[in-house]
Amino acid sequence: MNFAFDNSFHDAMEGFYAPAEAAKPSAPALLIFNHALAGRLGLDVAGASDARLAGIFSGQDLPGGANPLAFAYAGHQFGHFSSQLGDGRALLLGEIVAPDGARFDVQLKGSGPTPFSRNGDGKAAIGPVLREYLVSEAMAAMGVPTTRSLAAVATGDRVQRERAHPGAVLTRIASSHIRVGTFQFFAAHFGADHVVQLSDYCVRRHFPELAAAPNPHLALLDRVIGLQCELVAHWLGLGFIHGVMNTDNVAISGETIDYGPCAFMDRFALDTVFSSIDANGRYAYGRQPQIMHWNMARFAEALLPAIHAVGPEDVERAKELVTAIPERFRAAWFARMRLKLGLASADEADADLIDGLFGELERLNVDFTSFFRALAMLLRGDATMMEAVLPEPDAMAAWIADWWAGLEREATGPVERAAAMDAVNPLYIPRNHLVEAALAAAEAGDMAPWTTLLEVVRHPYVARAGWETFAEPAPKDSAPYTTFC
Ligand code: AMP
Ligand code: MG
Ligand code: MG
Repeated sequence: MNFAFDNSFHDAMEGFYAPAEAAKPSAPALLIFNHALAGRLGLDVAGASDARLAGIFSGQDLPGGANPLAFAYAGHQFGHFSSQLGDGRALLLGEIVAPDGARFDVQLKGSGPTPFSRNGDGKAAIGPVLREYLVSEAMAAMGVPTTRSLAAVATGDRVQRERAHPGAVLTRIASSHIRVGTFQFFAAHFGADHVVQLSDYCVRRHFPELAAAPNPHLALLDRVIGLQCELVAHWLGLGFIHGVMNTDNVAISGETIDYGPCAFMDRFALDTVFSSIDANGRYAYGRQPQIMHWNMARFAEALLPAIHAVGPEDVERAKELVTAIPERFRAAWFARMRLKLGLASADEADADLIDGLFGELERLNVDFTSFFRALAMLLRGDATMMEAVLPEPDAMAAWIADWWAGLEREATGPVERAAAMDAVNPLYIPRNHLVEAALAAAEAGDMAPWTTLLEVVRHPYVARAGWETFAEPAPKDSAPYTTFC
């Protein structure tokens, strides 16, 4: 097995990380390996046994060419600045360049303490590891920019949380692990030259076309804001709640990162929160755009020394970029919602239609995912699904009539429009009650329900015979759902 590591961060960014080592697991056993992703990355694992894969992806065996390191970063956690965080339970093995030229980090998560672990044990329990694997792969299948999951390996060790759990290590693949918090760390402790160096590295790695801009640091801010607007609009369109939108969990690449207490909303309510640690609802479903705006303001602050170094007058421009975020987000959100509603061309009435929809969904507490599939069924002349979704058959008659009128201006016919809607509105998502049951079984040693659910969420759009229960909303009497990091 040859990884052909090419470790640009390690080689170019000394001082921005701490070398670290993985802890030795007592009995590594492969839980799952993502062969399709390995193929996309150009990793040759054809001859590797499960034991060999388990050894490498648990941190037991260091592959040749790896330069294991922990990233330094800071971050605002629930609004409060911590100047010293860093990878406390993650270890970058190295970077690989895929056959198409794309560069990726290969990182172990849960492989033991690092110089940044503070009081933490550096470990991960099997539940959160398999949740991240499942949800990140579901997000990828739905076209959401995200880190990916290459492997999950049980360590054979116990991890103490509210009780003891089996331990596991996740191998995470990311375009990079550089975060808003990485910029904050170097802005807080070192100043302009370090911020310039980090920004230059990000531009080279992620957005090389920005290097020619008059002020590449300002161009980076502009680009990252754009990607975050797109990303959060995408999340909202799927009912996704990240759960911990701290600035250390915001990737510069625009990928969804750090799946902790994340979950998908069942019945629509703007104030939905699942995370046990989010008592004040800071990261509730409907607050995510505002939080993204706030996080981007923190990013702008951290970048300011670099922006100022190249062009003092650009500081004003940076402020304008931050001020314009709500408008920019709204444009991304309307574009996303038009797709979901089958409206190909923009119209001034769309804003009222879209805002009106969310008022109705909130008033009626409709199952968010099913609603859009039911809407497409109406176009096919079938109202049974909508009747099952709504509390009374006519509960949304007025809104549906407005939507129908909006569709009249479209050039394509209703059946084509329904197909286009079904291609962006998932039927199968990682529903909370299914995820919970699958994780409980996995923790007890039975991986079958989890493996089946993974297969289902990898095919989100096309209805399959035998998968009916996976599309059903949570049982009406199910207890309020709570997630833990
Ligand atoms: P998170 O909330 O998972 O994004 O983590 C916030 C910070 O806490 C990061 O610096 C993590 O590396 C660190 N951290 C979280 N869990 C652990 C753990 N079990 N051991 C050490 N550090 C941890
Ligand atoms: Mg984190
Ligand atoms: Mg985390």
